[in-house]
Amino acid sequence: MTKTRFAPSPTGYLHIGGARTALFSWAYARQQGGQFVLRIEDTDRERSTQASVDAILDGMNWLGLDWDEGPVFQMDRLARYKEVADDLIARGLAYPCYASKDELDAMREAQRAAGQKPRYDGRWRPENAAGKTPPAGVEPVIRFRNPDHGDVSWNDLVKGVITVSNEELDDLVILRADGVPTYNFGVVIDDWDMGITQVIRGDDHVNNTPRQINLLRAMNAPVPDYAHVPMILGHDGERLSKRHGAVSVLQYDEDGYLPEALLNYLARLGWSHGDDEVFDLKQMVEWFDLGHISRSPARFDPEKLNWLNQQYLKICPAPRLGELLRPRLEKAGLNVDAGPDVAQVADLLRERGVTLNEIADAAHYFYATPTPPADLLAQHVNDESRPALVALKNALQTADWNAETIGPLIKDTATAHGLKMPKVAMPLRVLVCGTTSTPSIDAVLAVLGRERVLERLAALG
Ligand code: GLU
Repeated sequence: MTKTRFAPSPTGYLHIGGARTALFSWAYARQQGGQFVLRIEDTDRERSTQASVDAILDGMNWLGLDWDEGPVFQMDRLARYKEVADDLIARGLAYPCYASKDELDAMREAQRAAGQKPRYDGRWRPENAAGKTPPAGVEPVIRFRNPDHGDVSWNDLVKGVITVSNEELDDLVILRADGVPTYNFGVVIDDWDMGITQVIRGDDHVNNTPRQINLLRAMNAPVPDYAHVPMILGHDGERLSKRHGAVSVLQYDEDGYLPEALLNYLARLGWSHGDDEVFDLKQMVEWFDLGHISRSPARFDPEKLNWLNQQYLKICPAPRLGELLRPRLEKAGLNVDAGPDVAQVADLLRERGVTLNEIADAAHYFYATPTPPADLLAQHVNDESRPALVALKNALQTADWNAETIGPLIKDTATAHGLKMPKVAMPLRVLVCGTTSTPSIDAVLAVLGRERVLERLAALG
């Protein structure tokens, strides 16, 4: 059975690159009818935090990427890592190393001075350690005995065949003195135990893969397929970072992006299905394959994300759009429950912003009586328009309250006063909304409700 995993280290928030890796792994598992595991690689005890774990889980939940197994925490599996290390030691494939940090620094320094590439020189390999007394009171690390000769090769599902000579690799530490595994060791045991069939991850891990394959072989474990996804660059071609704007997935939530827009955007970031640009998760699951992951780095384009967000705002069901606006309005101190139906407001304003935040900003006058700016009042509410406005106000007191009635009423009132429609509609907007930029004014009035509208027109006398 196909089984993939997303294995973040909880040393920060879920960033755009991580989210894309998660999405690709998730989509592949779903496409294949397989399973998706969430594994938290928390062995870096200094940098791992609960806050980061929470941020990762929140980010995954916000995106709607569900997992079938986990979250599995590596720190809960120390006994298993020790068991495998002991087995490797017993079979002569791993050994304790007592070299101190100072000693290793000196070793590397000497290698550099001799023009060599710094690498562990095997000084505690069993054959070299024979007769040596381990220093008193030093807990050893455990090193893997990497094969001395030959090549490690794999057919990367994104990058093609990659071959690395074992002479390039040294004996890596697999267990630290405190029994905590290093990254490469925890990964291979987990991938093995969890039955992972495809490892899909960022290509910053390509250098680790030959070491991981050697470890898996030593453990007599199956070697999964590897798909290393090229990194994401900013619009300027530099590696994506905070400089390019938000990189935390949850920041996009805060900034007013819909999760489906971000997912659609991430799907197209380094993967393609013909020329298709707008497609939902369900469609992606149908289409996703590893063969169409691009071999070159993707560039993050905020304008394209904005465009996609607008596409999804257009089709978001009004009740959901309303509920997404609600906390944003409340954050601005507005009492949503005391105002008009937020779903109707959302429906009316959905095309008036790139983000939910912009739409929420455009919705303030529905929930708070605006103070029309003096210059707009002076410009629009004048001797020419006032009689028509007063007549309209009076007519609105008894009119059927819906856009279909209010629209013609505004038009007829204007005509009766010898005015063009905008000569009445504009001052009406200024008085009721405090701005000249609103959706169709009849629809705005209908949603606002008679009471609020008449209250805002009261000053006309
Ligand atoms: N924990 C690693 C990271 O956050 C990922 C390991 C993997 O996917 O093999 O980069």
